[in-house]
Amino acid sequence: MKRVLVVEDEASIREMVALNLKMAGWDVLEAESAEAALELLSKNPGCDAALLDVMLPGMNGFSLCETIRRDDSEIGIIILSAKGQEEDKVRGLSIGADDYITKPFSVSELLARLTALCRRLHRSGAAEQPQDGAERLVSGSFVLDQKSRMLYKAGQSIDLTQVEFQIMELFFRNPGTALVREKILEGVWGKGYYGDVKIVDVNIRRLRMKVEDKPSSPEHILTVWGYGYRWNP
Ligand code: CA
Repeated sequence: MKRVLVVEDEASIREMVALNLKMAGWDVLEAESAEAALELLSKNPGCDAALLDVMLPGMNGFSLCETIRRDDSEIGIIILSAKGQEEDKVRGLSIGADDYITKPFSVSELLARLTALCRRLHRSGAAEQPQDGAERLVSGSFVLDQKSRMLYKAGQSIDLTQVEFQIMELFFRNPGTALVREKILEGVWGKGYYGDVKIVDVNIRRLRMKVEDKPSSPEHILTVWGYGYRWNP
């Protein structure tokens, strides 16, 4: 059974979300603050996903996201942001969240996002075999190890979130090819994803920080203006 942590201080929302997730077959942990969430996580390691409200008493959802991500690059994190807080989305994604949902949201949307996220996660599909039997993809001086879900640059390991890993996988399989942002979105987040292509840009920005010597003048993840991105190994 997949386990999800729901962090939301408004009891009515938290209980509604938890109830619906349980009915959909999830094991649910509930926390009303970031502090309580961290304690729960330390007692229950190996959560598949976390839903984090931004506005929390005490430590907010962003700090919580950063704290969780520091220890766990595999857990799927969805930020619940207030309506119209566009900067919340970008900020959440740039500090390690995999997705965001704007409040108010429907339960069906939440479930769809969560299911899509977990389908991408290595942990939940532990037996997911790499395609064509290859465990390591090599591109220039980069190696993508599908077993450990790590990226290596000239032998140095780079920690990636699952979303970042999938983007790199797409790049490695299409070197030198301009990939339109919508294709990256579909390839990583799946068909029928509700979000917009901005999520691709945010993840690319974060990947450049990890992959490029000089993120401001990238040599490997190149921008194709008005179109998308191209991997140059
Ligand atoms: Ca709140």
